[in-house]
Amino acid sequence: MAASYSKALALGSVSKGGSPRLAARGISGSMSFRSHMHEALSEARAAASRGEVPVGAVVVGPDGAVLATAGNRTRELNDPTAHAEVLAIRAACAALGAERLPGCDLYVTLEPCPMCAAAISFARIARLYYGAADPKSGGVAQGPRLYSHAQCHHAPEVYDGINAAPSEALLRDFFRERR
Ligand SMILES: [Zn+2]
Repeated sequence: MAASYSKALALGSVSKGGSPRLAARGISGSMSFRSHMHEALSEARAAASRGEVPVGAVVVGPDGAVLATAGNRTRELNDPTAHAEVLAIRAACAALGAERLPGCDLYVTLEPCPMCAAAISFARIARLYYGAADPKSGGVAQGPRLYSHAQCHHAPEVYDGINAAPSEALLRDFFRERR
């Protein structure tokens, strides 16, 4: 099972890079939407290989350039806040020399937890794209539903279910191996 998933994911990653963008251009013009979820999934796979919960995140600038990618590193850093989203936001802010990321998009393979949902709000991320729903620890579409509160001063546009299946498979395989 794990092997077939990783094979499928590996095959999926073969096409990453310029060619999908060029193909998309051919269909719908130069302003077509390009998902960066495959890069987030690649970070999630790398996290799993380090023994971390397989979650990956990517921050994309207003011009479409990738500013930062990160996977969970809570074990490696002995840091309960070292979730993929927080690390990607920190790295993107460092790259831009800015304390906020207005106009930027964040892709993450799993629904953000309340801590990361808050960090995304503080960073003024414009659009949040996430993969699998997280009924256990999610804070966006369930649980605290952070962005629905009056005390939340900035809510990103949220797009869920983006490439959810491979993200769910990674998490399922990861936790199955640890039982
Ligand atoms: Zn989190």
